[in-house]
Amino acid sequence: MTVTKLKINIQELKPAELKSPPAPGQKLFFGKEFSDRMFIMRHDPQQGWHNAIIRKYDNLALSPAALVLHYAPEVFEGLKAYRQPDGGIALFRPRDNFLRMNASAARVCLPELDVEDALAALTELLRLEKNWVPSDPGSSLYIRPTMIGIDPYVGLKEPEEVLFYIILSPVGAYYEHGFEPVSIMIEDKYVRAVRGGLGAAKTGANYSASILAGHLARKKGFDQVLWLDGVEQRYIEEVGSMNIFFVYGEKLVTSELNGSILPGITRDSVLRLAKHWGLETAETRLDIREALSDIASGRITEVFGSGTAAVISPVGALYEQDKEYPVGEKNQAGKITQKLYDELTGIQYGRRPDPFGWLVRIS
Ligand SMILES: *Cc1c(COP(=O)(O)O)cnc(C)c1O
Repeated sequence: MTVTKLKINIQELKPAELKSPPAPGQKLFFGKEFSDRMFIMRHDPQQGWHNAIIRKYDNLALSPAALVLHYAPEVFEGLKAYRQPDGGIALFRPRDNFLRMNASAARVCLPELDVEDALAALTELLRLEKNWVPSDPGSSLYIRPTMIGIDPYVGLKEPEEVLFYIILSPVGAYYEHGFEPVSIMIEDKYVRAVRGGLGAAKTGANYSASILAGHLARKKGFDQVLWLDGVEQRYIEEVGSMNIFFVYGEKLVTSELNGSILPGITRDSVLRLAKHWGLETAETRLDIREALSDIASGRITEVFGSGTAAVISPVGALYEQDKEYPVGEKNQAGKITQKLYDELTGIQYGRRPDPFGWLVRIS
C-alpha cells in the first residue's frame, strides 16, 4: 500500500443524488453518461496541489475569460477499469497514463502531478464508484483524467490557476458486431501535428486540428483518416486517434516516436508482447508510397491501429483518393492482429496471465 501525501475530502451524497449504475445487458453509449462522483483538485504556484475532493459529478463554474476556453491549455488521459473474473476491479498500466499526462502537461506549461497521489485519488474514486464498473463481456469503466488552466485572463500566458479532475463513464463492448476491419482514407490535405508542435502531447488542441478531416472522411464513407507527417505529407504518423502497425509476415513495423506522434501505451504493450513472442519489431519512418506498394504486392499482410478505446482495430483497406488498397483478406482481421487483441484483452480482463505486471488491482 502506497502512503499518499494527498488529503482527500469526501463529500457525502444524499440518496436522491445517486443515479442507477448500468444494469447487466443495458446499452451503454461511450462518453455520454457519467458516474455519481468526480475527483477534483486545484493547483497554484503558492499552494501546489490543494483542495482535493471527491464530490458529486457536476458542472464546473469557470470565468468566460478562463485561459482554457481561449488558448487551450488542456491535457487529458484515457484509461479503463476492467471487471475481473473474481468480481474485483483492475487498471491497465495506470502509472504510465499519469506519467504521460505529466509529459503532456509540461508541453503546455501545466503543472506536474505526483503520480502516486494521482493513482491514490483514482483508486479512492473507484472504490466509491465500483458499482459503475460494468460486468457485461467487453464492457469497462472509461476513466478521463483532465487538467485545465483556468486563470480568468484573456491574455496569453502560462497557466497559474489549474484544475485537475477525473470523471468516469461506463462503456459497452467496442466491437458489437464482431472484430470488424475498418476503412481508412489517406489524408492528403490536412495534418494533425508537426514536429516541434503538440503531436506528442495528449491535448485537446490536437483533436481540434483533426475534427474536420475526420468529419469529411466519414461523409465519404470511411471510418478514419491516416495521418501523414506535417512537413512532406509523406511519412505515416497515426490512424485516427490510434497508433498504427504494419505486419510483414512475422515482423511488426510502426512509426517511430519522432515528436509528432502520441506515445501510446497500447503501442508499447503491442511492441513488448510481440518481442516476447519472438516476433521481429521495428520503429521507423514509414513512407506511404512504400507502404502502399507493399500492401499491393502482399508483403504487408496485416494493418491495425492500437489505442485504449478499441485496443486493436484491424484495417481492411487504405484509400488514396478513390484507389483502394485492400489489406490481406479485406473483411477479416489478420492472424497476428487477432492474437494481439485476444492476448491484450485477456490480460486486461484477468483471463490470461499477466507476465509484465501490467494490471493494478484496486479491489
Ligand atoms: C490516446 C492516443 C493514442 C493511443 O494511446 P493509448 O495510450 O494506447 O490509449 C494514440 N494517438 C493519439 C493521438 C491519442 O490521443
